[in-house]
Amino acid sequence: MAQYTPMIQQYLAIKAQVPDALLFFRLGDFYEMFFDDALEASRELEITLTGREGGTEERIPMCGVPYHAAEGFLTRLVEKGYKVAICEQVEDPAAAKGIVRREIIRIVTPGTVMESKALGEATNNYMLSITQSVDGYGLTACDISTGELHVTLIVAGIEPMLDEINVYAPSEIIGSSELLAIIKERLPIVGKPIVYTTREHKNVDEQAQLLDNFPLEQVSSLRGATKESVMTLLMYLQETQKRSLSHFKHIHLYEQAQYMTMDPFTRRNLELTETVRERSKKGSLLWLIDGTVTAMGARLLRRWIDKPLLSKERIDERLEAVERLYGNLIARDEVRIALKEVYDLERLVARLSYGNANARDMVALKLSLSQVPLLKEACMNSGSATLQKLASQMDDCQDIKNWIEQAIVDEPPVSVRDGGMIRVGLDDYLDKLKEASMNGKKWIAELERKEREVTGIKSLKVGFNKVFGYYLEVTKSNIGSLPEGRYERKQTLANAERFITPELKEQETLILEAEDKMFDLEFELFSKLRNQICEHVSRLQGLAERIAAVDILQGFAHTSAANHYVRPDITDQYDMKIEHGRHPVVEAVIERKAFIANDTEMTRDVGRMLLITGPNMAGKSTYMRQVAILTIMGQIGCFVPANKAVIPLVDRIFTRIGAADDLIGGQSTFMVEMMDIQTMTAKATSRSLVIIDELGRGTSTGEGMAIAQAVIEHLHNHVGCKTLVSTHFHELAHLEQSLAYLNNYCMAVKESDAGVTFLRKLIRGAASTSYGIYCAELAGLPQSIIGRSYDLLHAFETRAGLLEAAAVAEGAEVAPVKDAIEPVVAETSAAKPIENGSKLEEAMSPPIVQLSL
Ligand code: ADP
Repeated sequence: MAQYTPMIQQYLAIKAQVPDALLFFRLGDFYEMFFDDALEASRELEITLTGREGGTEERIPMCGVPYHAAEGFLTRLVEKGYKVAICEQVEDPAAAKGIVRREIIRIVTPGTVMESKALGEATNNYMLSITQSVDGYGLTACDISTGELHVTLIVAGIEPMLDEINVYAPSEIIGSSELLAIIKERLPIVGKPIVYTTREHKNVDEQAQLLDNFPLEQVSSLRGATKESVMTLLMYLQETQKRSLSHFKHIHLYEQAQYMTMDPFTRRNLELTETVRERSKKGSLLWLIDGTVTAMGARLLRRWIDKPLLSKERIDERLEAVERLYGNLIARDEVRIALKEVYDLERLVARLSYGNANARDMVALKLSLSQVPLLKEACMNSGSATLQKLASQMDDCQDIKNWIEQAIVDEPPVSVRDGGMIRVGLDDYLDKLKEASMNGKKWIAELERKEREVTGIKSLKVGFNKVFGYYLEVTKSNIGSLPEGRYERKQTLANAERFITPELKEQETLILEAEDKMFDLEFELFSKLRNQICEHVSRLQGLAERIAAVDILQGFAHTSAANHYVRPDITDQYDMKIEHGRHPVVEAVIERKAFIANDTEMTRDVGRMLLITGPNMAGKSTYMRQVAILTIMGQIGCFVPANKAVIPLVDRIFTRIGAADDLIGGQSTFMVEMMDIQTMTAKATSRSLVIIDELGRGTSTGEGMAIAQAVIEHLHNHVGCKTLVSTHFHELAHLEQSLAYLNNYCMAVKESDAGVTFLRKLIRGAASTSYGIYCAELAGLPQSIIGRSYDLLHAFETRAGLLEAAAVAEGAEVAPVKDAIEPVVAETSAAKPIENGSKLEEAMSPPIVQLSL
């Protein structure tokens, strides 16, 4: 250490405080990085690596970014998963004896970014704190840019914890090293990369002091793991942000069981908020139904989709509002128009509390608040009880609006240090200073007029620059006309001379002094107003939340009306009945609205399990996803694409659909499938919806079919959930005879001389073939291979038929397992054709033959 220069010694001492962060070390107008930090940052940011003498033989690697452009570089590093510690000079270099004192003023981590460039408007940026205690796992999710804190206790083990983590798609997780190790290993990589930060839970004494900085009253009512997770999080925020964060006001404590559960793969498979392939919002359910106009609404909608409700009452409340606005275009427009001028209240408030808001943010807050009375009125006139309730709970904060109105000019500058923000009339002293500076400026203008007259030089002018202050300028060509000794020469330019007079300098001093004081005073008044508003953060947050809810509801109405959705009937009962259901996203993107609607019936009486056979590309997985998506849409309170829909509350959706296979590195597809099926069989209840696409592939035909049958029997006999299974083993169709609540369905296909046409219609019965060879033919395989394939298929089928006949003759058939679930009434599944299906069946040539075994 001793060999280094004092500055490098200071650098190293500070760097030792933040070993896991890159250190932005302020040197004049630059943030410099040294040693390994410099190597890493220069590579990541593609900036030049240089060196600096530091007292050792070798130069110290160094790179830097200009301080005024630092935000962009910072954002890039944080987006790449780095933590960046910002170290500033904390004393005036002119006044410093020896090395200027420097301190870390903030550590920016992926979970604690406030810079607007790094934050997507319509997405939250969550950081999670995870703890484990005797009572279970504690999870706290916070978004520092909005002030949200969601807290829950998870008692049912690590799986539900992983599901919950996934809901938030966090950018950073903090927790103990053991816990993080487990999470890292088990959490499927389905979204953006997560940064893990180890923080052990600290003791109680430190916590008391912590709460002085975070005035969160609710913390005292928390116990065990949840309290620890909140405290660990606050501790981390304090450590990294080095300031109190007064916009964390309210803890939203919830139970996982209040919401529908979905595992990470299900969310992904159903493309709820992003597509599987491009990972883009476009093409997802969120993209389709997002009719919000505010950023707050857009963020909350994501949360609603991630957490469908399980309370019929709450869902019906939402649906009521959607229904009213659906049928009342005028009311809907009124609400929409009122919302258009509402800025991002949550983030404005967060910036105010955080201390990085400017006067423009205040004006945005004022404009937003001016809309609130209009919005309330629009809600009141909508005829919707839900919207009226929300409006009555909206505190319109007009006092805050008035404070800003009175204090801040309509178009203030970006900077808060250079004046120009505060209105005349707010503060007497400020007005006096303003007058003094104005008078001085008037005097100077007058001087210009007078001197032009006296000297006869028309182009003589008064100017100002930061170095010389005010001056009189005369062009070279006019210098001759200037009486000798009239002014004092100050500066010579290429084609002009600049002069001053003692009187001019006197006025200048008055103006500059007044301006200095003005700027300070304006900043002081601005800060006072900011602090005053910060006292009311929770009122503003409460308002923001209600505005966001109204925004989503009007958006639902808008989208539902535009796409002809209907209000679903949400029930506490078992049965699901959907008439003419459509997949909302596929419908929206296919050409000429050619989507074929399909019915769904899963009831206690008719059957709750659909075994769907049919060739590839027939529309099986679209159909199965459609059923899940309609359920979710219903449970978030949106209308659904159907002619009629009765949707029972589903506690959990499981999907096992091919697309996500590649996600857990190193595991075979088949192993992943089996692990999913394991979770499914362990966790599903009779109120769950289970969807399995292509059950049992990935192993030998015999084993695959055996497992498929066993899983189907288990779900049918022991779980009783609503189930949709597609399989290419059309041999499994025989299960319809032994399982009372299983019905065979297939996707209708029309065969003609010209080839095979997929009709995309779900009909009763089982497909007789999977058209695999036909597909191969379409794909252009040589005719010799196609012909040979048909021959072999024929041979296999004949042999299988013979073997089976032999087995039956020996009495080897497995005895059918009868239903064990109460109170389902047993009934055989004699063909119960769905109306549309039967019509279609007639229309087809040749008709689909039900496979007989
Ligand atoms: P499968 O699972 O049977 O292989 P998919 O569900 O993937 O088939 O459907 C194949 C394609 O058919 C989809 O890309 C979709 O565009 C189209 N499709 C599916 N269902 C319908 C429908 N009901 N109406 C119109 N087109 C559909």
